[in-house]
Amino acid sequence: MISVIIPFYNESQLVEPMVKEVQKALNSIGDSYEIIAVDDGSTDHTFELLANLKHNLPELKIVSFSRNFGLQAALTAGLDYANGEYVSLIDGDFQDPPELIVEMYHTLKQNQFDLVIGKRTSRNEVTSKRMAIRAFHLIFDRITDLEDIYNTGNFCMMKREVVLAILDIKESSRYFPGLRSFVGFKRTYLHYDRPDRTKGEAKMTFGKLLNLATDAIFSFSRWPIKICLWLGFMAIFLLLLAGIYTIVSKAANWAPLGWSSTILSIYFIGTIQLTFLGVIGEYLYRIYKEVQKRPLYIVRSYIS
Ligand code: UDP
Ligand code: MG
Repeated sequence: MISVIIPFYNESQLVEPMVKEVQKALNSIGDSYEIIAVDDGSTDHTFELLANLKHNLPELKIVSFSRNFGLQAALTAGLDYANGEYVSLIDGDFQDPPELIVEMYHTLKQNQFDLVIGKRTSRNEVTSKRMAIRAFHLIFDRITDLEDIYNTGNFCMMKREVVLAILDIKESSRYFPGLRSFVGFKRTYLHYDRPDRTKGEAKMTFGKLLNLATDAIFSFSRWPIKICLWLGFMAIFLLLLAGIYTIVSKAANWAPLGWSSTILSIYFIGTIQLTFLGVIGEYLYRIYKEVQKRPLYIVRSYIS
């Protein structure tokens, strides 16, 4: 069986065409399937539209959250509920072409690979968003040892083993492409052009994307703490020079000058301390979240 997971957050304009398009792709394969629509606490008619589609499509399963828990939670819920031997994740806004699922499935069926990842050869979105994402991917790629982060998103198809490995990771700051890369397995890519979304606004707002990027960096890289360490070493070095200067000036009686150097060192030390506290705070916050062990999402209703 094939499971296709589609997250929806206030996508009333897109649910119907999207589910139908995925259904069409899956019908063309001919094997049994289920479509798992995750309604991430939509406040429009997304849920009602899904429930309506269910009447003519018994293969549709609907997981509806009690509120908006975010895309990463929606993807995790989809994976939790999926039963298929082959599991695919796809955005609900046609930015990942549903017909490619067929190609992904045939690739996996040949048994050479465990995982096919959609790789974007081009992106057709607002320039500022495209540039921000590109900058993130470039930096993230440099500061982690993870593979295939560049130009990939959530769109992929995995064999059951891969899904189980990912679900085994219980951490609450989840960045799916990072987790998928972390678990390894034999992987291949399917290149595609990423069109802009056909209808509605992007639901991953700039704020949400920024939070995701921070989660990704703090959970997959030691870079923030390394930077602190290097800045700390630099500060020690400067302190040494300043110390020598102070002692020499004292001995040579030039001491009273030096308002600028005093004020500058106060600023310097102050800024470094604040930055370090911020970085430590980010780690502390993450540790606190892990210790709290709150559920990643809460399901209000499940229609199977
Ligand atoms: N989405 C979601 N919960 C959210 C934000 C987005 O389930 O909090 C869904 C959204 O409905 C869409 C997919 O995730 O199907 C990708 O969202 P979007 O198109 O906004 O992301 P982008 O294309 O900017 O990565
Ligand atoms: Mg989109």
